[in-house]
Parts: sequence; structure tokens; C-alpha cells
Amino acid sequence: MQTMRAMQLDRPGGRLEAVELPVPEPGPGEVLLRVSACGVCRTDLHIVDGDIAEGRYPVVPGHQIVGEVVRGAGGLAAGTRVGVPWLGSTCGQCGYCTSGRENLCDDAEFTGYQRPGGFAEYAVADARFCFPLPDGYPDDQAAPLLCAGLIGYRALAMAGDAARLGFYGFGAAAHILTQIAAWQGRAVYAFTRDGDAAGQAFARRLGAVWAGGSGDASPEPLDAAILFAPAGELVPRSLTHVRKGGQVICAGIHMSDIPSFPYRDLWGERVIRSVANLTRADGRTLLELAPRAGVRTQVTRFPLADTVAALDALRAGEIEGAAVVVVD
Ligand SMILES: [Zn+2]
Ligand SMILES: [Zn+2]
Repeated sequence: MQTMRAMQLDRPGGRLEAVELPVPEPGPGEVLLRVSACGVCRTDLHIVDGDIAEGRYPVVPGHQIVGEVVRGAGGLAAGTRVGVPWLGSTCGQCGYCTSGRENLCDDAEFTGYQRPGGFAEYAVADARFCFPLPDGYPDDQAAPLLCAGLIGYRALAMAGDAARLGFYGFGAAAHILTQIAAWQGRAVYAFTRDGDAAGQAFARRLGAVWAGGSGDASPEPLDAAILFAPAGELVPRSLTHVRKGGQVICAGIHMSDIPSFPYRDLWGERVIRSVANLTRADGRTLLELAPRAGVRTQVTRFPLADTVAALDALRAGEIEGAAVVVVD
């Protein structure tokens, strides 16, 4: 039996450990991929830390997979470069799936959570949920587009025609979305951790018109605030930065509890909403848009054996741009 190196989590809040596993056998409609890179997402931290615990354990995390098809299926031939996102499969039949909201399917399975992920030398994926990737992005630089870019894009789309956008938490998603929003002619206000001068300079370099700490007042009333940081206290704080009729959009899968706040701050038809997962339509749109907008991703590479170090660096806020595990 052929084996592979993989990083496996035994249980929620358990240890992520290097193991040897059998190379997975693709089921009907699944492709077998040789993984070349897999982006590291804050959701991976939530999975490893047990903040969310609905996976199928033991699990290989990682849901921004770039790889080459070695056994084809569903029209994807061997040799094709594809990306595999967080949304790994859906039922295809429920009211959500048949109304363009497959991101909300009750029977959806997620990559690196209920389905095996990409912190491994090989992975299997439902061919219908693999994306062809745009040329011009090396594998490691394409990986962050698959969740940071893609779910970030869904959050941006929810903001509609908002001209003044606040981004709270300047990690992998905001570093991509700032470039897209600036290209679209919007003004981005970047709220980083207080005192993070390097992060604020990074945001300005990518096109933000203003950057400051999350404890600062917004220099202008915002049309929409997008929260990438999983800190519940940012909800009432950002709400005070948003004009009447504006929105606070929570883009993460997990957030600490939201403190209570005066109704007056919500008054004026302000809206608070979450963004859940992605649809394949979001993926196709973002992967077509990113090269046109000239998006470049800034990545810090970690070998597969150092996946835990990559997660620790992300947790500590040490990554400028996106962390990516590369598989030799
Ligand atoms: Zn993610
Ligand atoms: Zn469904």
C-alpha cells in the first residue's frame, strides 16, 4: 500500500501531528490530487483549537488546496492544476442548493473538516467542487485565493456598492480584498490591532486610504464594515463607525461573544449580518476577477512538517499576508 505524509488532528482541541497515512482512494466522482500547496486559514486554527467541533475526526485540516490531478474524474483530466476550497460537497437537492445558496446546505461537507484536507501529500476531492486556477499565479500564491480571497469576496459582494469600506483585522483576506476594492474605486479604511504600525503600513501599501488601530475612531462614516478578526467586541465598535443604512458584515466562521450595546447604535436601519462559507459561483467570480484586478498575494511558505509552526505564527499575528504550507 502506498502511503503519504500528512498532518492529522485526532480530536477538537487535540494535537496536530505528522503521520503516515494510506494515499486516499478516490470515490465515484472524485479526483485524486498530488498537493503542491495548501493555504493556512484562521478556520484551521478554530478547528485545531476546538472552537468549532463538527468535523469528522481524525481529520487532515487544510482547505485552500492547490494540486495536480493524478487520477481524473468528472471531466478533469490527469495533469490539470486545480484548487479545492472550503465547500467540499453539497446535497444538490435542498431548497438552499436549488436557489443559489448552496453555501447554506444542511448536508454540506467541508474540506479539511468533514472531508480530508490539504496538509498532506495527496488529497481526494469531489470533481464538481474543484476550480481551474488562473495562470500567472504560482501554486503557493494561488492557494490564499481559495478561502481568504473567496470568502472575503463573498463578504465584499454583500457590501453592495459601499464606497467607504472598513476592514477590521488585516490578515490574509483583507490583504487580497483591499487590492480588489481599491481597483474597484472604493476607499478602504484598514483597522488593525492597536499599535500594529507594520500592519498599517502594509495596508496602505496595498491601497488602503487610511490605516489605524481598531480602537481608533473612523476618520469618515463607513458605508460598510467587514470584520475578519474573530473578536466579538468589534461588532458594536464598528457599528458606531457605520452610517445610517450601513452594514456590519462578519466574515469569520467563529467569533467570541458579542457584548451588548445600545439599540441607538443599531437604529437608522443599520444591519449586522454574517457571511457563511461560499458558493461555487463566488469562486468562479473571484478567480476570474483576481487577475484582472492585478491581485498579488504575499505569502510566507512553511514546509509540510512545519504546519504547526505556521498555525502558531498565524495565531501570534506574525504573518504579513498569508501563510502557505508547501509540499515537496
Ligand atoms: Zn478558510
Ligand atoms: Zn443542499
